[in-house]
Amino acid sequence: MSEVETTSEDRGHAKLSPSSSDRWLECPASITRTPANLEDEGNDAAHEGSAAHDLAEYCLKNAVDAVAGKMKDEFVKWDTPELRDFVQIYLDYVRRLVGDGDLFVEQTLHIFKRHDVWGTADAVIVTKDGTIHVVDLKFGRGILVEAEDNTQLTLYGIGGLAFDWLCRVPVHTVHVHIVQPRRGNYPSQAYPVEQLVQWIKDNEHKVARANSGSNEAHPGVHCRWCPVKGPCKERAEANLAMASFDFAAPVPACTGDKSELTEEELVKVFVALPQIRQYLDDVEAEVSKRAHDHEVKGVKWIPGRTVRKIVDEAKAIVALEAVGIKPYAEPSLLGITELEKRAKALKLKLDTVMGEALAKVTSKPVLVAESHPTPALNPATSTAADFS
Ligand code: SF4
Repeated sequence: MSEVETTSEDRGHAKLSPSSSDRWLECPASITRTPANLEDEGNDAAHEGSAAHDLAEYCLKNAVDAVAGKMKDEFVKWDTPELRDFVQIYLDYVRRLVGDGDLFVEQTLHIFKRHDVWGTADAVIVTKDGTIHVVDLKFGRGILVEAEDNTQLTLYGIGGLAFDWLCRVPVHTVHVHIVQPRRGNYPSQAYPVEQLVQWIKDNEHKVARANSGSNEAHPGVHCRWCPVKGPCKERAEANLAMASFDFAAPVPACTGDKSELTEEELVKVFVALPQIRQYLDDVEAEVSKRAHDHEVKGVKWIPGRTVRKIVDEAKAIVALEAVGIKPYAEPSLLGITELEKRAKALKLKLDTVMGEALAKVTSKPVLVAESHPTPALNPATSTAADFS
């Protein structure tokens, strides 16, 4: 393995970043309407993710394992054995791919330079057989990243093409990998070069549109992460239309009672539910934020619900025991996550410790829209008990 030292470029945010491409490829207004100075202050999860990236970068550049890696002072707060264990999974993944290829760490990928689309690849590996690997570490545990139909991966694939001059043979494939260790999720997508070239031909107009200042707004599930989703009129109209059953597409004629929704109409509402719920939550958050900043006509703050609360635990215990009331609940088992943490601290595997006492139990089937990425249950192999 040969390792190439690189200086990572500015880790600021691109105007059109691959991670939000599913939104801006569909809705250019989400870029045009976002103020340039809108600062993303980040949250704990984002800071912890930066800490993991920082450690991973150090380890790959200095060829050491996570346990021996150094973190910048600003990230020390996030330094835990658990974080280092998860970073080690990423390091092992990258090192397995490197073999006798060349590794580049924290590389700026200029994807569409003239449209200001770029991103930072955590690792790029140029192999000797004409394959380029791009690896992205996702440290979050909230959203499971999928490889299929993921435009972020496609854009990373296009960015990976820029490394072709380092390949000793013509590049035939760019393989993009997501390493999401906290979810045990490692999706990847191998793109033949021709597929990437075709994608550019088919979609470059959308990239150019997003960078053109267009005010065209196209609401959809991608609105969820839009910085201007709160006051967006088009999103409001689309969601309120859905909520009032104002179906845009024609619905097959109903032969039964006209006072009832047809099954097709019910399914349309069902499929729209997550989006409507999300929209209502976002409206609540936006109005609350404004009412916090200034007086908003039409709304007011009222006191919260009054509940009784023990404010002095020691005194409460004495008082209760004095009259013969046992103040403690019976002890109950800890949850799996906490037990796993405790087993890990003893360098034990919870599965081994628990043996037959621990089993994988699948919860009852969930009804979702047909477009959901999870494959459907096979009725032939499902039992009535699955649905009981
Ligand atoms: S909320 Fe949705 S429709 Fe409105 S600008 Fe953002 S992405 Fe576009």
